[in-house]
Amino acid sequence: MTFPTFALAQQRTSVPVRIDDEKCIADKGCTVCVDVCPLDVLAIDLTRGKAYMAFDECWYCMPCEKDCPTGAVQVDIPYLLR
Ligand code: SF4
Ligand code: SF4
Repeated sequence: MTFPTFALAQQRTSVPVRIDDEKCIADKGCTVCVDVCPLDVLAIDLTRGKAYMAFDECWYCMPCEKDCPTGAVQVDIPYLLR
């Protein structure tokens, strides 16, 4: 049986939204990115005190990246949407 390699090639290798733990100040009480996301895909990991992407979904509407006070959020817009 031959393996369908095309299916593997279409898989994403990273999540669309990355949060830089070094810059994130969720441990100081910031919840801006969680509050502004219309899809509620971002959340705060309370044990680490850092924001993270809880669900791999995104509208690429960008307020999370724009409003983060420390510039910790980076949204990777897919090439086809640019
Ligand atoms: S807005 Fe920025 S600093 Fe605040 S919780 Fe989100 S990633 Fe962290
Ligand atoms: S770009 Fe929009 S949908 Fe995606 S995580 Fe940020 S606020 Fe949420």
